[in-house]
Amino acid sequence: MRDPKERLIVALDYPDLSAALAVARRLADSAGMFKVGLELFNAAGPAAIESIRKLGPSVFYDSKLYDIPNTVAGAAAAIARMGVSMFNIHALGGTNMMAAARTAAVGAAAEAGLPPPSVIAVTIVTSLGNTEVRGELGLPEDASGAAVRLATLAREAGLDGVVASVREVAEIKRACGKKFLTVTPGIRPAWAAKADQSRVATPTEAIQAGSDYLVVGRPITQSGDPARSVYEILREIEAAAA
Ligand code: C5P
Repeated sequence: MRDPKERLIVALDYPDLSAALAVARRLADSAGMFKVGLELFNAAGPAAIESIRKLGPSVFYDSKLYDIPNTVAGAAAAIARMGVSMFNIHALGGTNMMAAARTAAVGAAAEAGLPPPSVIAVTIVTSLGNTEVRGELGLPEDASGAAVRLATLAREAGLDGVVASVREVAEIKRACGKKFLTVTPGIRPAWAAKADQSRVATPTEAIQAGSDYLVVGRPITQSGDPARSVYEILREIEAAAA
């Protein structure tokens, strides 16, 4: 069984590096991976990733790349050289873009003597509902149908997995195989506030659905005692995985 610590990703959604590092330092021993998102990266740049890695845990850069394959490949190589363990790109960019990102990242990591990062696809962002997916974007399926189809596209492009909601995990695993990673945000332990997440699942539900990585932000970062919250979530993961 995998160490529960390796399955928890703590989202450091902060507007500046000092606030992010204050929390990261307190959690460095208990959390296996931190997520750096667009807010922190655009405020602090590669220094955010470098200083978090120096504390010990690995980094998932939630980069959400989307551009022509050549440009995305260049960005993916630069991201891989920063030593992140995982980053993501939009599946809506198509298989050529996804494959170019993966090839570039794996090549750049090898050149730098680093392990290859997991390259993950974002399918349909969960802020889009069926009205937008069908009505605005004109896709033929509902949001979760499109998410599963895009996940199979990501797998065909050689990617390692997808960001998904817990309710889509079982179907994605059926369509793409057990080894295809699912990284699930929208996690709320029973004791935490939902905040603006509407479709939430508990850590137990996420593990039982087959999720590989659980992304948790505010239930940890906004709690009075972040280390205690991490501890509680890790215990819940461990119990559900037993
Ligand atoms: O604070 P909370 O636990 O809601 O944070 C969840 C994290 O996962 C945030 O960084 C958010 O941007 C990210 N995320 C999400 N839903 C998605 C993709 C990413 O909540 N579909």
